[in-house]
Amino acid sequence: DHRFAERLGRLGSESAFEVLSRAKALEAEGKSIIHFEIGEPDFATPRNIVEAAKKALDRGFTHYATAQGYLPFREAVVAYAQKYKGIDCTTEEVVVVPGGKPVMFYTVLALVNEGDEVIYPNPGFPIYESLIKFVGATPVSIPLREENDFRLDVAELKQKVTEKTKLVIINSPANPTGGMLTPEDIHGIADAIRGKGIYILSDEIYQRIVYRGSVKSIASLPGMKDWTIVLDGVSKTYAMTGWRLGYGIMRQELAKKITDLMINSNSCVAPFTQIAGIEALTGTQDAVAKMVEEFRKRREIIVDGLNSIKGIRCRKADGAFYAFPNIKGTGMGSKAFADFLLYRAGVATLSGASFGSYGEGYLRLSYATSIDQIEMALERIDKAVQHL
Ligand code: PLP
Repeated sequence: DHRFAERLGRLGSESAFEVLSRAKALEAEGKSIIHFEIGEPDFATPRNIVEAAKKALDRGFTHYATAQGYLPFREAVVAYAQKYKGIDCTTEEVVVVPGGKPVMFYTVLALVNEGDEVIYPNPGFPIYESLIKFVGATPVSIPLREENDFRLDVAELKQKVTEKTKLVIINSPANPTGGMLTPEDIHGIADAIRGKGIYILSDEIYQRIVYRGSVKSIASLPGMKDWTIVLDGVSKTYAMTGWRLGYGIMRQELAKKITDLMINSNSCVAPFTQIAGIEALTGTQDAVAKMVEEFRKRREIIVDGLNSIKGIRCRKADGAFYAFPNIKGTGMGSKAFADFLLYRAGVATLSGASFGSYGEGYLRLSYATSIDQIEMALERIDKAVQHL
């Protein structure tokens, strides 16, 4: 009997990886494809970080580390959280995991029971809904609308909270829209759930990639630290997606439970990776500033370019490295338009609908790619749309 466990039928996926494999298949046939589908910086990991890892390998940091995380790295996280997030925490409240994603996975496994309700953004990172369904909980999505700069509407959140709500997921700056919550939004969210026994998973993976203003962690607000799980990692900020290093900040009892989940799965994150992470979080931040400035230039070019194409209009989001244009004026649906661009123009993008029903009518383009590629893609899209 080759049947899989029933729970697998509820597991979702991330369309970025599916589109990437279709794009690669087209490239293997000799087609030229410009890649806007994958959300990872195209920069090399900064030299000082790579050197720290090499040194650690030479010094023999090649065995198991403690499951909760190598203490000097957790100390670096504590200092970083104080400096960039305004959070006072201890090393006991930090768990180190392989990337930002496992913080999501373990948080949902540790907190959410079958039948609980979990509120999450729509459009939003597809893994949120996948995990909620995987554990048999009820997904309650909250729409993010273009006319509201893709911010969550706090009044709507209040309406969605019930006695069954266990967890609310927020993500600012957001994937796929680049939208950012304002300080008032964050206060409003905290007020909507405070004292109700509801946890917040605050996905802050794009926190440092902002073009205007800054993001304050909801965990820094009064009474919120014990009810917040902060998700962050080095993947996006330091161009380290392949290193697999992330961390969660949460109250100590929960940190112990998530450490148990680590012991039952990964055992630990590679110690030389964590030593590189110390250099990333506490060393010079010059590379981050440079990358953000480069993203800012690309954002101008891609958003202005998209706005000059018939049927497309696009807002300039304040964070992350995604453009999320409205393509309703083309008369095509998101999936059909994304396929049209891939096969007719050789431009790989993601359908907005793959991030939730409220993403229908939009596309996601990751501009973590060179200006030359962006300009070439804009020309190709413009030409293809003329033929519609
Ligand atoms: N959270 C969001 C919103 C993301 O977009 C991503 C990556 O695409 C992650 C978390 C996961 O990052 P990591 O590669 O560190 O697991």
